Amino acid sequence: MEFDHILIRYGELALKGKNQKKFLVQLQQNIRRKLKQFPRVSVQRSQGRMFIVLHGEDPYPIMDICKTVFGIHSLSLAIKTENDLAAIKEAALYALQSAAAPRSFKVSVKRIHKGFPIHSQEMNQILGGHLLSNSSNVKVDVHRPDVTVKVEIRAEATYITSSAMEGAGGLPVGTAGKTLLMLSGGIDSPVAGFLTMKRGVDIEAVHFHSPPFTSERAKQKVIDLAEKLTAYGHRIKIHMVPFTKLQQKIFQDTPNGYSMTVMRRAMFRISEAICRENNILSITTGENLGQVASQTMESMHAINEVTNYPILRPLISMDKREIIRISEQIATYDISIRPYEDCCTIFVPKAPKTKPKRDRASYYEEKLDYNEMIKEALDHVETVIVESNKEVTSDEFEDLL
Ligand code: ATP
Ligand code: MG
Repeated sequence: MEFDHILIRYGELALKGKNQKKFLVQLQQNIRRKLKQFPRVSVQRSQGRMFIVLHGEDPYPIMDICKTVFGIHSLSLAIKTENDLAAIKEAALYALQSAAAPRSFKVSVKRIHKGFPIHSQEMNQILGGHLLSNSSNVKVDVHRPDVTVKVEIRAEATYITSSAMEGAGGLPVGTAGKTLLMLSGGIDSPVAGFLTMKRGVDIEAVHFHSPPFTSERAKQKVIDLAEKLTAYGHRIKIHMVPFTKLQQKIFQDTPNGYSMTVMRRAMFRISEAICRENNILSITTGENLGQVASQTMESMHAINEVTNYPILRPLISMDKREIIRISEQIATYDISIRPYEDCCTIFVPKAPKTKPKRDRASYYEEKLDYNEMIKEALDHVETVIVESNKEVTSDEFEDLL
């Protein structure tokens, strides 16, 4: 006997009423996509549960992959048996014995299929007795057992588990629309992308770079960060915006205190245009109140004037320590701290205004007359598609379609 299924629980989804079907189909599709490298396994849905049928595959690498799929609350190795008492007894014993030297257990039977003749209380007793008399050094403890042998009797079969692993939680990516993540090479924005994906949002990314002041390696850093994020989604399209000319112009012709504000406004204008072109309904940033001059309330107010698209700022209330902890968890931290300069660190005004005003920013922008340059930057956006473990250029992507 062996564990032949992985049982997937998706707690939060149960709340979604009519939309539930859509969520489940998306979750099933996301799991299937992640498990493509295991052609033997199948992913099935049955009322209130999802199952991965292993067909002889090693479950552990599969469980590891599933831990990155948003929408999964927890997962368990399961044995599937017929709805037959002798078979259930045997499987329950196997499930208990496969746990690491438990000193105590309890049995918890759920009789979802009411046609099964033995009620759950009675089943608990029958199975408890069977396990006790067939194993040594283990007793029943209904309050704090080392192992809970769970038995779900369903119409089509019975599933038995004796352990559970925590899943990523959240909602399946693809069920909450798409956002444009402003992805710098820093620590914050990849974490912001991760947290947005956790709420079921698919992402594309935009990166502003200023060659030759920013290097190829700085660009590669952003690709590597996006690649880490694909672990939680599918593929990520990065819009690489050439920002050199605009940045130079802004920093030459804008009074020092306002160059940062005007530059950020240009980034938002360009991001909104990319959203419009790609049917994306919001922009996400790694902004966090109070970290740097551009992130004061006044600064956000001044920068935000140029777009009325929703700006998602999932890190707004977090402490730097919390952000770093997440970036370590998702393995972006080591990439983010690579030393290459990004466009914002090169063109840094000596004394940016911490309380910029909207009307002053507009005034300096009018003098710049930079619409033509924004258009030119948009015309020269290069796209890079990043997929888990590999990246393709836009031309190659055309071939993929
Ligand atoms: P991060 O760690 O994400 O770089 P930060 O703390 O350095 O953030 P800022 O430099 O003020 O903060 O940037 C705020 C946000 O603006 C970033 O989190 C990111 O979303 C966006 N951003 C900054 N620079 C770029 C860039 N070169 N390309 C795309 N987005 C950027
Ligand atoms: Mg930064």
